[in-house]
Amino acid sequence: MTEQELKTVVLATARAMNAAGINRGAAGNVSTRHEDGFLITPTGMGYDACVADDVVFVGLDGRVAGRRNPSSEWRFHRDIYATRPQAGAIVHAHSPFAVSLACMNCEIPPFHYMVARFGGNDVRCAEYATFGSQALSDAVLNALIGRSACLMAHHGMVVFGGDLPEALALAVEFETLCEQYWRVRQIGDPQLLDDEEMARVLEKFASYGRQD
Ligand SMILES: [Zn+2]
Repeated sequence: MTEQELKTVVLATARAMNAAGINRGAAGNVSTRHEDGFLITPTGMGYDACVADDVVFVGLDGRVAGRRNPSSEWRFHRDIYATRPQAGAIVHAHSPFAVSLACMNCEIPPFHYMVARFGGNDVRCAEYATFGSQALSDAVLNALIGRSACLMAHHGMVVFGGDLPEALALAVEFETLCEQYWRVRQIGDPQLLDDEEMARVLEKFASYGRQD
């Protein structure tokens, strides 16, 4: 895909994120890896008001090319691309159920086998740090060790995938999991799946969905 086509898909993904109900207004952001950096939504602009040329290129070295300023959270996007080769696209959203759990500094334990979809026995919650800060990026990277999603305390969630459609689909799945856990916690403390069963599920997910 050309850079222009990719910018169009980044914007379409940001709009789809809001249409899917996992984000509202100009909060959240979307990016995809491109050349030696990534293309990311601009800061502070409603996605309906944006056109493809408002999507900004940021190099892994921090250089910016475009007519807008990148999302204030460009640092954790850069740091994820720099350290996780399998990350091809990132969705960050202030989705209601993830935010509810994140405001309780809550990790998601193995209450359901789908927790393994995000790489392990749990999904961690990154420690709070001011939005846009390097400290927040450091906390997010820490929470993402061995995982493709994390909550962000008093903030939201971040999910990455191989490409934009996958990252968006995983973000919707993650918010669904957060909603389910939130609902379960209204009834009580759920029984958890044990390490042995989660290891089995992780093994199955390694080949899940392959058509070959
Ligand atoms: Zn945010």
